[in-house]
Amino acid sequence: MRTLHLRFPEADRSHPILIDPGLLDRCGELLRMAGLGEPVALISDAMVMAHQGERVRRALRQAGIPFVELVLPPGEETKTLSAAADLYRQLVRAGLGRDGTLLAVGGGVILDLAGFVAATYMRGIPFVSAPTTLLAMVDAAIGGKVGVDLPEGKNLVGAFYPPRLLLIDPTALDTLPTSEWRHGMAEVVKAALIGDPALWEQLRAAPARWAQPPEGRERLELLERAIAVKARIVERDPWETQGEREQLNLGHTFGHAFERLSGYRVPHGEAVAAGMRAAAVLSARLGLLETPDLPHELEKLLQGLGLPTRWQAWLSGYGIQATPEEVIEAMGTDKKRRAGRLRFVLLHRPGLVRTYGDVPPEAVRQALMETA
Ligand code: NAD
Repeated sequence: MRTLHLRFPEADRSHPILIDPGLLDRCGELLRMAGLGEPVALISDAMVMAHQGERVRRALRQAGIPFVELVLPPGEETKTLSAAADLYRQLVRAGLGRDGTLLAVGGGVILDLAGFVAATYMRGIPFVSAPTTLLAMVDAAIGGKVGVDLPEGKNLVGAFYPPRLLLIDPTALDTLPTSEWRHGMAEVVKAALIGDPALWEQLRAAPARWAQPPEGRERLELLERAIAVKARIVERDPWETQGEREQLNLGHTFGHAFERLSGYRVPHGEAVAAGMRAAAVLSARLGLLETPDLPHELEKLLQGLGLPTRWQAWLSGYGIQATPEEVIEAMGTDKKRRAGRLRFVLLHRPGLVRTYGDVPPEAVRQALMETA
């Protein structure tokens, strides 16, 4: 079993990240070994339960752990305060006290929502997280951010509430739809560009190979490396006060604008892919790139993965027409904006990114024209 440790300044927030095929089948035993209390509230969505639920149920039964199952409809629409309120009431009815444990099994939606409930129910109960999408394994589950959406915007209410234990079972991805795999790969590419040049080389050497989940050891290593990049950044800036965590927004200033223009109809992973390509071209235009081929190589990699690289053509596939000026306008409402200035994470070379708050709008417009 691979074990990474995510260390927070407060010892009680630090936790192990276990990565091993079959962990879902052993989750009961692992909860016991970690000294977590009973009963367990298993929170998941209907799709995840249909594919992975029996493994979790059996593991809890084998360990003799009493549990209740709280299953929500799949999709971002579930990540709301009213869903959280329903869950609080069901937890009360199930008799879950502060000595119980909340086990979240699912993608980022379930982890964010269940983590938020764990953080706030009875002022906080022990939380265990078992991500089942690639995006959740390499991104949403790492770093302790939990929360829900408001009608006014995504992730506007939340907390930092790291789990006691993070269980990453690569075999859960066997049942993941290919489109969801691809969306997660956008975040893996992002992790490689931010902090793992060797992973970047591995990905770009054979783009099409990564369009489907690789098997065995290759899958394990892909997960481990991408997780390690995010974990290292989180450790340097656990509460998002040092600016380090901003690096994780590579491609996101553009990406959020694309999502906003679409009324959040486009998948986040696709928006990040098109946004990273625009960010790479912007980095080149500003003379920051030490590796001038990078925008082209990134385009080839993303294309091989079946991800978009030309934002205007891609958005028009969703019936959305937008001009570069409209994209810049949509950036103006980004919550990552500080003191009225747009901030971009830009690339110097794979493994070296920096945040810039003084990018001339004309350069942004040119990068958008070039990547339309
Ligand atoms: P998701 O949770 O909606 O899952 C995508 C779909 O895959 C769902 O329909 C789900 O039912 C299905 N699914 C999940 N696992 C499956 C499996 N093993 N087999 C078959 N189907 C499966 O989406 P996501 O992409 O995992 O997460 C997106 C969410 O994550 C967003 O709400 C985003 O805001 C959040 N997020 C949070 C953080 C953070 O730091 N907290 C970071 C990134 C993203």
